[in-house]
Amino acid sequence: MSEEASTEQRPSPSADPTLGLGNAASFEVQGDFERFNQRDDIFCRSFWDPEVRSEATDRFYATYREALANWRAVDGFTQRDYALRNASWHVTDVFAELKESEDRREGYLDELTVLRDAPDEQVEYESPQAAAAEIKRVAQLFGADLVGITDYDERWLYTHKYSREREAPKPNEQPDGLTHVIVVAKAMDHSLIETVPSALSGAATGWGYSADTLTLLALSQYIRNLGYQAIPTLNDTALAVPYAIKAGLGEYGKLGLVITPEFGPRVRFGKIFTDLPMELDLPKTFGVKEFCDSCNLCVDACPVGAIAGESPSEKVYNRSNIVGIKKWSVDAESCFGFWERQNSDCSICVRVCPYNRGWPDWIGRGWRRLAGSPLRRVAYWLDRIVGGGRRRAASWWWDQTAD
Ligand code: SF4
Ligand code: SF4
Repeated sequence: MSEEASTEQRPSPSADPTLGLGNAASFEVQGDFERFNQRDDIFCRSFWDPEVRSEATDRFYATYREALANWRAVDGFTQRDYALRNASWHVTDVFAELKESEDRREGYLDELTVLRDAPDEQVEYESPQAAAAEIKRVAQLFGADLVGITDYDERWLYTHKYSREREAPKPNEQPDGLTHVIVVAKAMDHSLIETVPSALSGAATGWGYSADTLTLLALSQYIRNLGYQAIPTLNDTALAVPYAIKAGLGEYGKLGLVITPEFGPRVRFGKIFTDLPMELDLPKTFGVKEFCDSCNLCVDACPVGAIAGESPSEKVYNRSNIVGIKKWSVDAESCFGFWERQNSDCSICVRVCPYNRGWPDWIGRGWRRLAGSPLRRVAYWLDRIVGGGRRRAASWWWDQTAD
């Protein structure tokens, strides 16, 4: 079956400014929308922008590379905590550094390219549905915890990539013919996130990136072996949030991340751009917008007040906010400043979010049903009563290994 047949059956949401979320929209494109330039991403700015870069920035990045014994010697920030965190980033770092001599940081500023040539002959599928089902199965085989498929939508591509060598924008050019985007998600480890803030908890982030890198490369090679284009991307090339929403993986939450039904905001996304015709998934809602409207746990827990507690708006804190989208916004400068001061990334907002719990599946399903109903305040108070989102000591995490 042709791709036209597929989109005829399930209309593409790309023209819908609410990304298909309708009245429940918490991510709505406005008339003054401007595509985002990766140069304005807070991590790029931490290299070129004196408003962001400081001595603390250099120290923050140095903790990922240098001898670790002299960093903060408190629970969660010891040499062993940093050793684990930095090891978790190792796989993705190897790929990021592999082609630095060609002014490429693959996975962060440029797409991953460590792939073999493949045949021109294309494997034909019985239908786009069959192709989608197979790709999802293979993605899960290669380590994805969630997979969704949406259409290629140029609005979410960066206007420019960023060159670390020249500290300047560079073209973001993609080949012709790309039609679909496969969005994969890797869940971050729940027990590590319970120890946030700590250097130890950064291992959940790092391993999310490393695992995603392996999944993206293996799945892209498979698609190439089938005779189709496949471009694996991590943080590079395009914004992950709108693609993840369009691909039906979750809803936008007040903390500025996609909240998935299965893992809440505790996921890392990767994207593969392809011309393989597949059935499209559609955005879904499960009551996150309404729940966030009456929950402020992330707002209250953020140590630097970086999360706006107000209604979705076009609020722009600084140049790291995308212009022309009505949504909840986060002050990336304040957020990153806290990361620098504690010498590790922070996920306090993820830890406290009631959608991020390590409950057994059946309890999680029941809680989500309640949270998505008019009884959402009961769901909120249940989470409070059981002490959801409390911080555990890093030493608690290490002690598990002694059992
Ligand atoms: S990561 Fe930490 S500093 Fe940043 S918004 Fe979340 S709680 Fe605030
Ligand atoms: S902590 Fe509450 S307000 Fe924040 S994203 Fe989670 S559910 Fe929404």
